Amino acid sequence: MVSSNHFFCSIFDAQIIDMFPKYPFTAAERFLRYVQVDTQSDPQSSSFPTTEKQKDLSRLLVQELKQIGVADVEVDEWGYVYATIPANTDKKVPVVCFCAHVDTAPDCSGTGVKPIVHNNYQGKDIVLPDDETQVLRMDEYPYLQTQIGNDIITASGNTLLGADDKAGVAEIMDLANFLVTHPDVKHGTVKLLFTPDEEVGKGTAKVDLEKLGADFGYTLDGGEAGSLEDETFSADGAQVIIHGVIAHPGYAKDKMINAMKIAGEILADLPKDRLSPETTDGKRGFIHPVRVEGIAEKCTIDFIIRDFETPGLKKKEDYLRTQIAERMRVYPKASFEFHVTEQYRNMKEVLDVNPHIVAYAKEAISRAGLSLKMESIRGGTDGSRLSFMGLPCPNLFAGMQAIHSKLEFISVQDMNKAVETMVHLVMICEEKA
Ligand SMILES: [Zn+2]
Repeated sequence: MVSSNHFFCSIFDAQIIDMFPKYPFTAAERFLRYVQVDTQSDPQSSSFPTTEKQKDLSRLLVQELKQIGVADVEVDEWGYVYATIPANTDKKVPVVCFCAHVDTAPDCSGTGVKPIVHNNYQGKDIVLPDDETQVLRMDEYPYLQTQIGNDIITASGNTLLGADDKAGVAEIMDLANFLVTHPDVKHGTVKLLFTPDEEVGKGTAKVDLEKLGADFGYTLDGGEAGSLEDETFSADGAQVIIHGVIAHPGYAKDKMINAMKIAGEILADLPKDRLSPETTDGKRGFIHPVRVEGIAEKCTIDFIIRDFETPGLKKKEDYLRTQIAERMRVYPKASFEFHVTEQYRNMKEVLDVNPHIVAYAKEAISRAGLSLKMESIRGGTDGSRLSFMGLPCPNLFAGMQAIHSKLEFISVQDMNKAVETMVHLVMICEEKA
């Protein structure tokens, strides 16, 4: 455990927004408490939320929002927290939402997290005390080079830290505190949304956007300070079902066609030097077999198809279908089915129609004194789903690093920059209205 008194004296006196010199940030203080609440989600569970313990944090957030003075706040039966900070301007300002997820990744334990603050980082290896094989080194995590003199928070070696996404949660809570205590900062209606089960891909399953009533939003679920993500993959699933011809193995000569063997050939036909996750990065997509199941008579292969452009997805699917049809010509008595299901779409398709949403975020990052890093996510986010559900929603940095691992870390200073960026964002929305 951190000795918090000492921590506050040493850090927060120095952490002051230039614009509002009296304001002591509370994001890190909140963060240190939130990470100690176990909120790991469970991909095997069929209940919602997938683990009841996620609601422990949801309830705590409701309580704290009330203490802050946010009257309009509730947690629903699924563990979603909705809150409203009323407008304090006469202008007609769009309603903006800030969103973060309360759950932590199933990849690494989130039970008994013991956060440690390493004040005034000077570039030395950070050895985590509960497992000394866990060492945070600058040459393995070059982002640490930008953190000299900063205060780094890690876990103790046995668990993840949970900065993904309790950093986002704590930063949004601190924004709420800031806005309520600074009525001089003019803003429109600000909505807060905390969701369960993001890490298991169900974060938007039970969200009520009508109740939320926002015009657009920002997830606080990114890494490096100054980064802004407005692009994700577009994603489909493709299922191939191969029907072989079955016969008694003792009398199968010239009759049997084994579906599993055809499946093996189809997989062997996939290109070895391109179009796969293991051979692509940047803006290139892939065709990726994720599961095979079958018997001699019938075999199923599940693929995921990824591309940054939706027409690119279609091209990859056509390519795969043609390859399989070609292979099947060798076995005229066997047959196959090919089914494509839509998974999610690149949020950029929505954001490009509403360019001010990304433009405001860029402006806010620059007003916070950071250099902008535009990034594309080689995956999907709750933001990509929310964007297509009617809430355009790019992803802002929260400061988290080495996520889903025992070496996860974040700096107090990056968290403060995230809060500062959101303050600028709500001010920009008001100014431009
Ligand atoms: Zn996350």
